[in-house]
Amino acid sequence: MKLIVLKAKAESCEACDLCKTRTNVVFGEGNPQAQIVFVGEGPGRTENDTGRPFVGRAGKLLTNMILSIGLKREDVYILNIVKCWPPNNRKPTQEEMNACRPFLVRQLETIQPRVIVALGNTALGGLTGNDGGITKRCGVWEDVEVGYIKSKLMPCFHPSYLLREPKYKDNAWYALNSVRKLLRETI
Ligand code: SF4
Repeated sequence: MKLIVLKAKAESCEACDLCKTRTNVVFGEGNPQAQIVFVGEGPGRTENDTGRPFVGRAGKLLTNMILSIGLKREDVYILNIVKCWPPNNRKPTQEEMNACRPFLVRQLETIQPRVIVALGNTALGGLTGNDGGITKRCGVWEDVEVGYIKSKLMPCFHPSYLLREPKYKDNAWYALNSVRKLLRETI
């Protein structure tokens, strides 16, 4: 399914209660043929206001993280596990993540990335079903199957978390450097 069709479906989705409090559905954006997809947890307040993923301070840091692997924001695709803002920037519930999963699956099946970067524990759990352990898993390659696609998965800290806990930036840069190396070797 084309991303534009899927986006239109998401914009009228009422499959979970987040539809009641959203201003905009934040579907995701970027290169539909991207080799690499960055997956976050869910839109924050600014993303809800603008309809775009990863804007504001965390978005700026994500842009720098993408630049560090030799790519620009428009080269990659950026999306979240849930497409609507969980009020007060809380974590999405498992029910909300389950309700939104068909969009995640179809987005990834359409883009067919070679590498997925999971930003933070919630994204890691949403992609692998195995939540937690980002501190240990950051920088260590995993394999993931989402729908019918198989991809390399790199767990990494969420940029919002890195803004609060800059001591983990070295771990994040290590993870991103591994992604940069793999892309150089294989693309
Ligand atoms: Fe639909 Fe996902 Fe938004 Fe819930 S979060 S209303 S499932 S698009």
